[in-house]
Amino acid sequence: MSESINPFEVALKQLETAAKYLDLDSGYHQILANPKRVLTVSLPVKMDDGSIRVFTGFRSQHNDARGPCKGGIRYHPGVTIDEVKALSMWMTWKCAIADIPYGGGKGGIICDPKHMSVGETERLTRRYAYMISDIIGPLTDIPAPDVYTGGKEMAWIMDTYSIVKGNFVQPEVITGKPLPLGGSLGRNEATGRGLAFTVREAAKKLHINMHDATVSVQGFGNAGQFASKLVQDQGATVIAASDSKGAVFNREGISVDALVKHKQETGSVASFPGSKSISNDELLEMDCTILIPAALENQITDSNAKNIKAKLVAEAANGPTTPEADDILYKNEIMVIPDILANGGGVTVSYFEWLQNLRREYWTEEEVNNRLDKNITKAFLDVYDTHQKFNIDMRKAGNVLAINRVVEAMKLRGIWP
Ligand code: GLU
Repeated sequence: MSESINPFEVALKQLETAAKYLDLDSGYHQILANPKRVLTVSLPVKMDDGSIRVFTGFRSQHNDARGPCKGGIRYHPGVTIDEVKALSMWMTWKCAIADIPYGGGKGGIICDPKHMSVGETERLTRRYAYMISDIIGPLTDIPAPDVYTGGKEMAWIMDTYSIVKGNFVQPEVITGKPLPLGGSLGRNEATGRGLAFTVREAAKKLHINMHDATVSVQGFGNAGQFASKLVQDQGATVIAASDSKGAVFNREGISVDALVKHKQETGSVASFPGSKSISNDELLEMDCTILIPAALENQITDSNAKNIKAKLVAEAANGPTTPEADDILYKNEIMVIPDILANGGGVTVSYFEWLQNLRREYWTEEEVNNRLDKNITKAFLDVYDTHQKFNIDMRKAGNVLAINRVVEAMKLRGIWP
């Protein structure tokens, strides 16, 4: 993440812009500018060498007008309270766009999971779960995976929560769980799959033939890998990909399966056979049809936006483009499928997982994928219609649509007392 850009300021700026289009009452604007609740927790952990280290964690609950707060938990050395607050606001918009009955939440711990043992990570995770256990719950706030967390951490959180809150199993308190604990088929691939569905719909609007399309992917983690695979299945050719250790390029095309295998074996996409090593800037500014930022925030900024050559930017990461960059891309007629739409497949299948847990019934992968397709295609078309109606870029359109849905719910509920 670029150190100088505060994601919460970006989120507030986006809210302000959308508020103008909606002629939003200043009271509602103020409510939405502040998360409903933010908890900071101090987490002592016994490290493997016998020492005690104290970590800091957060959980931000932005808004629950439409349903329980929902959103992931990230482990990263760069986590800040403002980042978590911004991400929780984006979750509120994301759930509203997907039209699923949730508000927005987000959690994070300042830590470096790549340099922690499994035991240390488990003790940290359980302590965090315990410390937030009074504000999360199946009907209040349902966490999920995010950057550098996954099924393993979700299982520990479910177990800790279940033990401290009545000692009976409560799978519906968290999503993104492993299958044997009530996880949903299709959840692991959901963010990438949802993104590929939005790319398919955008390609129709932009008259892009997927068989002629080339793709550059920044961030070859879970979302980046599945998104690449699925756009490749639609006919596109992936020509560049990166991770935190390097970026590779081959104009003739890179087999996604082979690159996934290479990364599994070596820990990185770097030195993939037959490819040329390139810089992160070269990857973002690649002459390609579709750019998929799937890493962290603030990657496309006012300093590089003018060099972006893709026709379509599909945001798998949260917050990869700054508002200044958005304006430049829009002027250059580059369509951005904003994060809160493009990566909404993850939380949508989290919703399906939660429904399955509450009903103690399980769906086939085909059913999950079909429902996801229907849901996210409708979300894309809703945002696209708003973009045409207001003559604004897709991000502003997504925000306008989402904020309108949230404010509608808040007005109907009223302000109490
Ligand atoms: N962390 C993911 C996101 O940013 C998933 C959230 C969820 O499934 O609740 O959308």
